Amino acid sequence: MSHIRELELAPLETWFDNHGKIPLIAGPCSAETEEQVMQTAQLLASMGLTGIFRAGVWKPRTRPNAFEGSGIKALPWLNRIQQKTGMKVAIEVANAEHVQLALKYNIDIVWIGARTTVSPFAVQEIADALKGSNLPVLVKNPVSPDLNLWVGALERINKSGINKIIAVHRGFSNYQSSHYRNQPRWEIPIQLMAMHPGLPIFCDPSHIGGRSEWVHEISQKALGMGMHGLMIETHISPNHAWSDADQQITPKALYELMRSLRMPDDKTGRHQINQELVQLRRMIDSIDEELIQVLSKRMQIVEQIGHNKKENNITIFQLERWNEIMDTCRQHAKNYGLNREFAEQIMQEIHKESIQIQTDQIKILPSISSDSPKPE
Ligand code: PEP
Ligand code: MN
Repeated sequence: MSHIRELELAPLETWFDNHGKIPLIAGPCSAETEEQVMQTAQLLASMGLTGIFRAGVWKPRTRPNAFEGSGIKALPWLNRIQQKTGMKVAIEVANAEHVQLALKYNIDIVWIGARTTVSPFAVQEIADALKGSNLPVLVKNPVSPDLNLWVGALERINKSGINKIIAVHRGFSNYQSSHYRNQPRWEIPIQLMAMHPGLPIFCDPSHIGGRSEWVHEISQKALGMGMHGLMIETHISPNHAWSDADQQITPKALYELMRSLRMPDDKTGRHQINQELVQLRRMIDSIDEELIQVLSKRMQIVEQIGHNKKENNITIFQLERWNEIMDTCRQHAKNYGLNREFAEQIMQEIHKESIQIQTDQIKILPSISSDSPKPE
């Protein structure tokens, strides 16, 4: 990035009371009923999980006819949670009207969702509505892996006088099917961390994983990557949740999870002297993981090609196709500024493995071509 505008920020510990523990924002995906939010909040409070209580009141849904949140009637429920539990409450805002209502109902913190961060118009509208309030704002990463869009949203909010800001990493949409609901692409929040060392970055493992069983591993990984806190969806009865049922965990499970998580110690963590090297290595690790993931996807397609060739009696190795692959590889190497010989070597290795996979398939699978011997 050519131009970095410094963010003017209040240090996290001056406004986010974490009670000496890992900073946590927890609560259900959506506020469904007053009983559901109140019971969840009271359970969290009774277990000492009294960070910040989250509940979506207006829900951005991918498809119409899904539950779109309880709306304005849920705001007094959250006020009663503030009174009864002493917890601070956070809601999502997507336009100026949401912000005005959040201010009117004394909501403590607002967050900008991933689908809103992608739109500079929407973010600017929210930033304008927030002017003069200094209401703390969490800015989730945009759904697309675009660091500049994320930074731009943070800058817009900061420019309107908000200095209590947290960036939230919730993963990125992926057009290919992947293990997680939203790919983490850790190198992106780490790059943000390197650009703005004073900016707290939380991780939302619920929306990255999309499944409750992955919340733990993602949370621990995020802390290992130097992230400063967590935003986790929790519901008194996850199976019956009206939105994101697969990824929510019970308050009890959250309590166990928080007890088992470890902040990295100073030697390996974010306080290491040569912080830049630590961050660069984490970016490399994340990209290496992606490389392996992409290679694995390639080999799955190779298997399908193997089946196709076998069914159609086509030879595995075809010189013309090989020349085409290598020409394309050289062209890509040139376009992306990669050493040509290096790119060729890698492609040769990949191709060798592809041929091997297809050869193994012939050995394992019974032939189904018309001229092969029929079973007795
Ligand atoms: C949410 O936090 O419930 C939410 C909608 O998140 P995201 O914007 O990350 O999808
Ligand atoms: Mn959700």
